[in-house]
Amino acid sequence: MKVLVTGGAGFIGSTLVRALLERGDEVVVLDDLSTGRRENLEGLEGSIELHEGDVRDAAAVERAVAGCQAVSHQAAEVSVPRSVEDPVRCTQVNVTGTVVLLEAARRAGLRAFVLASSCAVYGDAGGGEPRGETDETRPLSPYAASKLAGEQFVSAAAALHGLGALSLRYFNVYGARQDPSSPYAAVIPKLAEALRAGSEPVIFGDGGQTRDFVHVDDVVRANLAALAAPPEAAGRVFNVGTGCSTDLLSLADAIGRRLGCDRQPRHEPERVGDLRHSRARVELAERVLGFRASLDLEAGLARTL
Ligand code: NAD
Repeated sequence: MKVLVTGGAGFIGSTLVRALLERGDEVVVLDDLSTGRRENLEGLEGSIELHEGDVRDAAAVERAVAGCQAVSHQAAEVSVPRSVEDPVRCTQVNVTGTVVLLEAARRAGLRAFVLASSCAVYGDAGGGEPRGETDETRPLSPYAASKLAGEQFVSAAAALHGLGALSLRYFNVYGARQDPSSPYAAVIPKLAEALRAGSEPVIFGDGGQTRDFVHVDDVVRANLAALAAPPEAAGRVFNVGTGCSTDLLSLADAIGRRLGCDRQPRHEPERVGDLRHSRARVELAERVLGFRASLDLEAGLARTL
């Protein structure tokens, strides 16, 4: 297939681009390089078609989609705190951007469309119980609300136009090429960077928050499965997690052990919009997409660190 990967210069997108190339697909990347980096695509320059552009720009999207059979839509305003600071921008990128892509996909008669959504849509509903796709959603940030809205547009496009479109709700993704330097960096690269540098790792809150950490190689496998999903998957959402969760203190400990460093974390106030607990139910993705995560946290950390 020829596949458009939006956000293909980002952490997850660039890992997906490599996997698609490895299986012999042609790849087009559309990325505005706002949080993504050219270095993430190093060595692939001759093998991909890179469009530097914005997913809100219908003309740029039209050009990128031309000749493709599928879209994997990874581009987004990805930061919860930044979405709280500027909810309008977040909505424009994550909701309008998704609608612009869906429209281009419909016009081009695409076979498959995959939206990268997030477990953030569940918010704190369920009080720590594992979350299933039909459970209540309760977004606690503009980021979460924008991802839920995106899912609903995907669902509407599948119903209206017969587009083979679906959404994947990623839980906490980690792995190589995840940027530790941004002020909004995710917890694993941040803890690893601090511990490696011999400085105090920072944990927001008491560290009792739990997360379902899923390795990027598994997320890529989920995307490959989603691009080849059966018709019954259209319009639906699927969790992409491991089904297991780990609290942040144990996580810091596990990373410290691997790096041979036992600095105790410093605690800072909890962040607005952060969830207490998050864990996926994974049966639906297994049953419909044939996807199940293959790496637990220990194996994933070994691969990453
Ligand atoms: P990332 O920041 O590395 O990747 C996002 C990419 O999108 C970047 O390359 C960025 O430059 C690009 N981008 C942003 N705005 C754009 C725009 N307006 N037009 C074109 N390109 C734009 O982040 P990531 O972790 O790789 O996230 C990929 C997707 O997965 C996102 O949709 C994110 O919301 C979702 N997600 C990630 C996680 C996680 O734990 N990393 C969890 C849940 C969902």
